[in-house]
Amino acid sequence: MSLSRSTGARQAEDSAPRAIRTAVLLAVGSELTTGETRDTNSGDLARILSQAGVTVAWTAALPDVLATVVATLRRALEDADLVVTTGGLGPTPDDLTRESIAAVCGEETSVDPDLERWLHRLFERRGWPFHETNIKQAWLIPSSQAIPNERGTAPGWWVERPDGRLIVALPGPPREMTAMWQQEVQPRLRDRGLGQERVTRTYRLTGIGESAVAAALGEPLLRKTNPVVATYARADAVDVRISAVAEDGRTPGDLVEEAEAIVLAAVGRYVWGRDEDTWPVAVRRELEALGWSAAIVELGTGGTAAQLFGDAPWLRSARLLTASAAQALVELAEAERRESGAEVGLAVRAADANEDTIVEMAAVGPFGQVEAGRATFQGGAEGRRRAGISAAAFLFRLAGEATKAKG
Ligand code: AMP
Ligand code: MG
Repeated sequence: MSLSRSTGARQAEDSAPRAIRTAVLLAVGSELTTGETRDTNSGDLARILSQAGVTVAWTAALPDVLATVVATLRRALEDADLVVTTGGLGPTPDDLTRESIAAVCGEETSVDPDLERWLHRLFERRGWPFHETNIKQAWLIPSSQAIPNERGTAPGWWVERPDGRLIVALPGPPREMTAMWQQEVQPRLRDRGLGQERVTRTYRLTGIGESAVAAALGEPLLRKTNPVVATYARADAVDVRISAVAEDGRTPGDLVEEAEAIVLAAVGRYVWGRDEDTWPVAVRRELEALGWSAAIVELGTGGTAAQLFGDAPWLRSARLLTASAAQALVELAEAERRESGAEVGLAVRAADANEDTIVEMAAVGPFGQVEAGRATFQGGAEGRRRAGISAAAFLFRLAGEATKAKG
């Protein structure tokens, strides 16, 4: 397929291209607003763009209604440097993305001879009859260029606006959309200046709830747009994520460091990991620093602690007992420690309590005997999983305290 270039497009390219820092993603198709099809395109593109340092201002799924698509496109062009539409490029009258873009640009659609030839040849090669409705797929407007589609019959549109903003229209089928994005759109966006360098740092916290973290960090910090400081309650941690782009001559790294100092002063004592850290990684790091191994006995957890640690080199033994075992946890921990020859023995018991899970733990080791307990506000399998995480957090805390006492 040839890449048709209209004069309008060339003119816009001659002026300094606008860098792409913000985007809006529109998924067009009534199958999305009726719930028959799920909009995976927006999520996929949002992830790719965010990773490239582009801020996705918002995304929306729209029905095949011309007025709605036109109005939303207008708003999107006010909010973002780049608007990507997926869907609505099919041959049938209900596919209205081309008409909508033409209306927004105030331009008329017309059949592009190159595209028409390409389309006819494609149908001939496949032995399909060419219905006149298909001719829509050869349409362009003066400010659009066709984006080749090797996997389907609907080319995309690359549309330059006079103010340097950009509309990219791609077909709905994910395999077509993705290939066109990777092969055609992304390289051209990169040439133009896609996104900004963004530095991100995540601190992983335990022993404090998300709302308490938010209160400790304070509203002014959490409302900043650069650096962005955000909290996320996850199953294994409350995460505090700090990210920044360059601003006013300051590097993103500087801005992140400055926010980081505030975050650590407020909640540093709850931090167990950074960035991609997981509990097995964090516990291993602490235990290896001390040269400790451990042995674990579990009751009522379904073995979630042992599953979490897998075949960790420091794990001497892992035993699962019936929840009704009568012995005290401290005794079980001590017996396991003695038998396995580990430095630390840990016993953990999980018990359902209404919707919650009560977790009790005891550890015996160089630090003496320590007991701890907590309620996780989850029952069943998720509660048992949290019990495994509690055991990891307990072990991490004990090792951390021992390291501090030593140093
Ligand atoms: P269209 O370009 O509107 O003809 O889209 C054709 C087909 O692509 C639809 O019938 C869906 O199966 C699929 N599709 C369209 N939009 C999306 C989307 N946002 N996410 C996932 N699949 C989609
Ligand atoms: Mg459609």
